[in-house]
Amino acid sequence: MAAGLAEVRSRIATATAAAGRHADDVTLIVVTKFWPASDVRLLARFGVTDVGENRDQEASGKAAECADVDVAWHFIGQLQTNKARSVARYADVVHSVDRAHLVRALDSAAVAAGRRLGCLVQVGLDHGAGRGGAAPESVPELADLLAAASALELRGLMAVAPLDSDPRPAFERLAKLSADLRREHPEAGWISAGMSGDLEAAIAAGATHVRVGSAILGHRAPLR
Ligand SMILES: *Cc1c(COP(=O)(O)O)cnc(C)c1O
Repeated sequence: MAAGLAEVRSRIATATAAAGRHADDVTLIVVTKFWPASDVRLLARFGVTDVGENRDQEASGKAAECADVDVAWHFIGQLQTNKARSVARYADVVHSVDRAHLVRALDSAAVAAGRRLGCLVQVGLDHGAGRGGAAPESVPELADLLAAASALELRGLMAVAPLDSDPRPAFERLAKLSADLRREHPEAGWISAGMSGDLEAAIAAGATHVRVGSAILGHRAPLR
């Protein structure tokens, strides 16, 4: 784990330098899905401040086991409305807001939990190939809803690059959408993009948050 972490940190440093950016401008979110709570604990000891999870059932248990660990929890997976109440109890940021109904569910859940939730609009950049995300045309409407919600804070945009093709055009498109968004919502500067295989391309295009799992933790079957 330490070696994987060092390797990924060095890739981020190289990519930010190549883009004329500062390494501190990119936050590493270590995606701990499939890995146990003990790994979250260990990652925190190695200086990791942010972890990502994509399934509520797995994440809620881990977050409870790690209540004493000082990390921020990012929910990055497709989110069913009926899970909003649970996610609002432990997540600090939800990256996968892709429909108005979910904004309303998260807002009332956050109010009920007495918490504030950072939120990103997930944009679908693969023309409906099933990796989730709102159509680019609906970003302004969702952003306005998030900004107006009482317990939610609009932070920016998230995307997953299309599989099996050059990720660069998708990340450029996301950067353009982000620039458009920031004209209306200057506070919404996060761009969550880039994973183990494409973090360099994402950072070149302006990603502020990369979500990296397998390059640090390796591959394993889902936890049951
Ligand atoms: C699993 C996952 C990641 C991490 O992917 P790796 O290729 O293992 O780095 C990033 N983002 C999302 C939305 C994921 O589900």
